[in-house]
Amino acid sequence: MENEFITFTIGKRKTIALIAHDGKKRDLIEWCEKNRDILKKHDLCGTGTSARLVAEKTGLSVKGYNSGPLGGDQQVGAKIVEGIINFVVFFSDPLEAQPHDPDVKALLRIAQVYDIPIANNKATADFMIQSPLMDQEYEHKVINFKQKVIDRASDSNLIK
Ligand code: PGA
Repeated sequence: MENEFITFTIGKRKTIALIAHDGKKRDLIEWCEKNRDILKKHDLCGTGTSARLVAEKTGLSVKGYNSGPLGGDQQVGAKIVEGIINFVVFFSDPLEAQPHDPDVKALLRIAQVYDIPIANNKATADFMIQSPLMDQEYEHKVINFKQKVIDRASDSNLIK
């Protein structure tokens, strides 16, 4: 297929989404505190409660979306699709059932589709935040969604 991928650039200054399930919020706050000097060089956002707690407890500036169970994870996913959020730290709780599990899965999936770095535990977040790429531009290949629409719309099998 022609032009199947396009090259996107994750800039030096990243837009980082911070999300933690309730059982992991303390861990996220501690992690942000520990990495404050790195985080303050980037734009921070997050689901409502996580964003507010991180901002209150660390003094970092964090833009808040809706609370996760009320659609916040979907908002973060939409911002990935729009090319605005390009780095995610998501401390999910593997031992607690979540009412918004489908939204969580959707966020993980869309991060995969758009090749966005996403950490869902502390060790991964530690490795990511210490990466030399945090201070550099990073080029990556993403599915060419415009071309995809053109190809799909011209696929005669879609309309019977
Ligand atoms: P919260 O949402 O930050 O509003 O608690 C996080 C989540 O549960 O996805």
